[in-house]
Amino acid sequence: MQALVYENGELEYRSNHNAPALGSDEALIRPTRMGICSTDLEICKGYMGFSGVIGHEFVGVVERSGKKVKNDLTGKRVVGSINCVCGKCDMCRGGLAEHCRDRTVLGISKRDGCFADSFTLPSRNLFEVPDGVDDDHAVFTEPLAAACQILRQLTIEGRPYITVLGDGRLGLLCAQVMSQLNATVRCIGKHPEKLALCEKWGVKHRPLADVGLRGDQDIVVDCTGSADGLTTAMGMVRPRGKILMKTTVAVHQDSKPIDLSPLVINEIEVIGSRCGPFAEALDRMATGKVDVVSLISRRMKLADGVEAMRLAAGPDSVKVLLEP
Ligand SMILES: [Zn+2]
Ligand SMILES: [Zn+2]
Repeated sequence: MQALVYENGELEYRSNHNAPALGSDEALIRPTRMGICSTDLEICKGYMGFSGVIGHEFVGVVERSGKKVKNDLTGKRVVGSINCVCGKCDMCRGGLAEHCRDRTVLGISKRDGCFADSFTLPSRNLFEVPDGVDDDHAVFTEPLAAACQILRQLTIEGRPYITVLGDGRLGLLCAQVMSQLNATVRCIGKHPEKLALCEKWGVKHRPLADVGLRGDQDIVVDCTGSADGLTTAMGMVRPRGKILMKTTVAVHQDSKPIDLSPLVINEIEVIGSRCGPFAEALDRMATGKVDVVSLISRRMKLADGVEAMRLAAGPDSVKVLLEP
């Protein structure tokens, strides 16, 4: 089968990759759309030390189900949570399964991803896509769920000032989701044409160069995908304010150290934020509460995946979708 594989420091398209073996509790899925995420780009710089088929954002159709699968979704259109968990460890038993100590993660940690003709996930990870949500929307479920996760981690009191830092794939989703809170929300970025999308959604926006680091924001959400993001966020947030970190970057020998003293001096709270609720993301798209289609910059074939990854890393792309 076709697959996009990262191995020995190199990303490669393969037309004759081995098809995956189907576990007894798993579903074999044929993706119809796949989304390239900044995490995929970081993986190809060494993030997580991953090796194998990359990719974790998809919508697809279940081709086959393993023998022990209880919710057989064969023939159905699905999206799927990327964390595959043991169900036995202290985290799983404590209701924090996404932090399972023995987890594998689709295309990110110890499990082949979805940039292929087919891949597997435990059947219990899957969500059937409602008819009202087409593939162009459904492929955004995973990143939109990650944006919705912020709402679970914050309590909004009064009418706070919130800055979403970063005008990329995740920043623009977070800005839309946050703008529906009782808050004054602005999106700050470096790309005028990406920030312009905020106009459509009535979200305030400013170029980074025009805003000072005034220490006046109650909450800053770092979606920069860059190692500098935290430093900028520390300059923007007020004393005793909160920073939500969505950025994950590969660390190298030549990575610059970050001065964390502002966290201490200004008693800033930093909250890490990763995967989120799929059902809520699907519901937001079904009810038209979020515009994801405007984020699609390009559609490319899986066979052109290496080039698609290159373009996704460029300044003029938001979401690059792959199709089989
Ligand atoms: Zn992602
Ligand atoms: Zn576990």
